[in-house]
Amino acid sequence: KPAARLVVVSNRVPTTGSPNAGGLAVALEEALQTRGGLWFGWSGKISQDIEAPPHPRVSGSITYAVCDLSRRDMEEYYHGFANRVLWPICHYRTDLAEISTRDATGYFRVNEYFARGLVDLLQPNDIVWVHDYHFLPLASFLRQLGAGNRIGFFHHIPWPAIDIAMTMPSYERLLRAMTAYDLLGFQTPYDAANFRHGLDQTGIGQILDKHRCKANGRIFKIGAFPISIDTQAFAEEARNAEKNPVVRRARAAYDGRPLAIGVDRLDYTKGLPQRIEAFGTFLERSPQAAKARTTLLQVTPKSRSEVPEYAQLQCAVAEQVGRVNGKLGEVDWSPVAYLNKTMSRPVLAGLYRMARVGLVTPLRDGMNLVAKEYVAAQSPDDPGVLVLSQFAGAAVEMDGALLVNPHDTDGMAATIARAFSMPIAERKYRYAAMMERLDAHDVANWSDHFLATLGEPDDMDALGG
Ligand code: UDP
Repeated sequence: KPAARLVVVSNRVPTTGSPNAGGLAVALEEALQTRGGLWFGWSGKISQDIEAPPHPRVSGSITYAVCDLSRRDMEEYYHGFANRVLWPICHYRTDLAEISTRDATGYFRVNEYFARGLVDLLQPNDIVWVHDYHFLPLASFLRQLGAGNRIGFFHHIPWPAIDIAMTMPSYERLLRAMTAYDLLGFQTPYDAANFRHGLDQTGIGQILDKHRCKANGRIFKIGAFPISIDTQAFAEEARNAEKNPVVRRARAAYDGRPLAIGVDRLDYTKGLPQRIEAFGTFLERSPQAAKARTTLLQVTPKSRSEVPEYAQLQCAVAEQVGRVNGKLGEVDWSPVAYLNKTMSRPVLAGLYRMARVGLVTPLRDGMNLVAKEYVAAQSPDDPGVLVLSQFAGAAVEMDGALLVNPHDTDGMAATIARAFSMPIAERKYRYAAMMERLDAHDVANWSDHFLATLGEPDDMDALGG
């Protein structure tokens, strides 16, 4: 029996063949190509006439259909509720949440609008896979409009512990709406447990067992599906990067200097000030490392600059880099090389491979793909060391990493020192352990696993968490 047609819903819909498409876009496009399918979401455009039906565009066996948003939708649904409420609260930053009834109402309204746009394009046997925090209540509106399809949801960011989640006035409304899905996937068993706990405590769902829950007479599944990267493609990208001119320039510039690398969007979840401070502390305590001109290359594209917290963070990080460089730098050495721009994947792959230490120290992160990319990019003969926050979803799987608490400056400084002086034999076995995991669990495997679980109502064995 041929696999059912797949419908993917995400806020941003990739443009076909984009050279910078991330692993996720590539994996989902692959799944859509094989089954035939539809990718639905926002056009990225603001327009006056938002009630116009979505414009389908066909490319191979994939149809792309996107809707415009009004300026007000954008403000309330996207900048407002998604980025100023859900993002901080899911990352445990209740202090940064800006609660507003208007934005919450706009968020639900826009979800209903997307549901109306999608429902006319749905065929009865389609399997629908909805992505991320922009669309928590989408299935409930699709159900109201009569959709009987199997609908799954994957939450890319953390799902917070109940005390944190409850600070959102819309928490119970969101939970209730989410019970309309057939499968709810999270990054880690901890996130899945937080979600289950919430259903149980509020009485919105009845927990049947670890993976099944009942609400409004329907049974739905909950599980952990840690997202991954295209491991082999990334490793190859890194092997080929030797020839990349930007990577060559970097190699010449850092010739003989031990290098640590950080790659993060400029976001308060990434722990950038803490990391830079810890790197400074490490240098102050390791005269040898300072003598060797050890450098942190921090690649940090700007993100969401229209949100005030992000603009403030931009200043704070730049100041901190200035302080460390001012205090510890020499005429021929700036300890922190800080770049506010986006690097292409081939360049990143080459830089990861050059760096002896990968610093991935978010205060909270759903998964963190940079951690996985850093490992995949290493040379098996001379691999670098991953220093990883215990609060990144990746910490569950990346058991060869040195785990740190990003709030503990002294601890992080000591771990950075340990990473730089780790003997080759230890580096190799830590790398091998992580690479084995990444080979077995790449992004194609992730999407297959999610879709198999969504498609087969009775297969409960496959669920993590
Ligand atoms: N990335 C990139 N260029 C950059 C910085 C980041 O292509 O200059 C990519 C990086 O390779 C990774 C993704 O952006 O694939 C970031 O994913 P992650 O899960 O680490 O964090 P997020 O930004 O989703 O919070």
